[in-house]
Amino acid sequence: MSIGAHIHSDDPLGAARERNADVVQFFLGDPQSWKAQQPHPQADALREAGIDVFVHSPYPVNIASTNNRIRIPSRKTVTQYAESAAKSGAKGLIVHGGHVTQGEDPAAGLENWRKFFSRQAEAGGFPLPILIENTAGGDNAMARRFDMLARLWDAVGEFDAGFCLDTCHAFAAGEDLVGIVERVKGITGRIDLVHLNSSRDEFGSSRDRHDNIATGMIDAEQLAAVVAEAGAPVVVETPADGQADDIAFLREATGR
Ligand SMILES: [Zn+2]
Repeated sequence: MSIGAHIHSDDPLGAARERNADVVQFFLGDPQSWKAQQPHPQADALREAGIDVFVHSPYPVNIASTNNRIRIPSRKTVTQYAESAAKSGAKGLIVHGGHVTQGEDPAAGLENWRKFFSRQAEAGGFPLPILIENTAGGDNAMARRFDMLARLWDAVGEFDAGFCLDTCHAFAAGEDLVGIVERVKGITGRIDLVHLNSSRDEFGSSRDRHDNIATGMIDAEQLAAVVAEAGAPVVVETPADGQADDIAFLREATGR
């Protein structure tokens, strides 16, 4: 199983070598932009080097939104990103679970996710797995607390949706990391990717501030246990200066 990092898309191959990473994740373009993006120019070089690729969709994407001006461009962006990510050789496209706004019924957001997958299924499906990622905060989030995640999976599970488990987000959301792999798999049946991050904030803070393993608030052994149990590729999305150390620690602790 591969271990690597979220890196800047300028030079994924160079960044992977600097960190002893055998998997990289990046944005195909500006993470704040809806704009369509080209496949990555290093796709062939990464494949030849044996480095796995995952692509993260841009931040403004919110598939659950009941606001047409957010949901419609979100669908378009993810669909377009999926094409370019697949052409980049990516093994999955990560999309945050998203949310509806305060006072709205979360069922509307769950239904928007279902429609997103069912429409695409009618059009032949996505060219690579879409991995829904759990998030840190928000009262009406689709993939923050695991009771809602279970409802989300009732809506999208039949479409072969994948799951990306972020340890910082789960910790911030107040989901205990002990036994978390088993609990997630009990809901989704799968973990396709782990975002292995420590947290700058305490358990249940709802804050999304990633930290390196050595300096963050999450017990390092607990993080290593998640990696050992998940049996999935691992990407650290931690401050860049400490990524090589994060990867080295995880390799040492898990024998990967
Ligand atoms: Zn993440």
